[in-house]
Amino acid sequence: MPETIPISSDTPPKKQPDTRARPYEGIGYVHSVETGGAVDGPGLRFVLFMQGCLMRCLYCHNRDTWDRHSEKELHFTVPQLMQQVLSYKHYFRATGGGVTATGGEPLLQYQFIRDWFVACREHDIHTCLDTNGYALHYDSAMEELLDNTNLVMLDLKQIDPEIHKVLVGIPNTKVLHFARYLAERGQPTRIRYVVVPGYTDDDRSAHLLGEFIADMPNADTVELLPYHELGAHKWELCGDEYKLKGVSPPPKETMLRIKEIIESYGKQTIV
Ligand code: SF4
Repeated sequence: MPETIPISSDTPPKKQPDTRARPYEGIGYVHSVETGGAVDGPGLRFVLFMQGCLMRCLYCHNRDTWDRHSEKELHFTVPQLMQQVLSYKHYFRATGGGVTATGGEPLLQYQFIRDWFVACREHDIHTCLDTNGYALHYDSAMEELLDNTNLVMLDLKQIDPEIHKVLVGIPNTKVLHFARYLAERGQPTRIRYVVVPGYTDDDRSAHLLGEFIADMPNADTVELLPYHELGAHKWELCGDEYKLKGVSPPPKETMLRIKEIIESYGKQTIV
């Protein structure tokens, strides 16, 4: 049995997220770019890791993307980005790939991602939005972004609101609202669920997830991701304590048990 981590709600995150909106001036603030990514959507992908995230997941492996501004951030306009993207078009075609916006959290810069995805779709390039679902704006730019998104990969971290707060640092109300919004739109969506020992690896959590997504006909696939601590060193580099130190990845039996539970709600589940 995996070690159970005591859940305490009296441990606030060390740094409070910066919730100030950044005025949109046609520039994307990017943490890093990966070409040939194979895990962030179908085929080979051009992956843009956006700077900034308002969540504070205990297991975050991209701790260095949290801040809205970073000395090391890259600045791109859409034409600059497209110059790079178009040079990979033959790889996309050969592998069924495309581009992915991830982070950090791409929805914090949703107008830029909208412009980028519109440009990609003009070139018939598949677009994927990898998001934690913490949407703050429901306006025409958001509509246009989703209209130009082929696939949303939505992280549902925990349906139980109290455990979510402990694991992620903020409530899940906005995330669940966004998930329902995607369902109403009929937006093609893949759910991602990280199996974290002591936080999300129990039957109840899996059933809560299954029940919630049973009402999402737009989401036919769930991807289960085992917790790992590969990004732990980044916390230390940022001067933070990594609280899940020593937690082992979930055993295969746990992954298969959760898969079975999710599948009982009629969703194809990938481990
Ligand atoms: S949503 Fe992603 S980037 Fe943000 S804290 Fe969680 S794991 Fe890290």
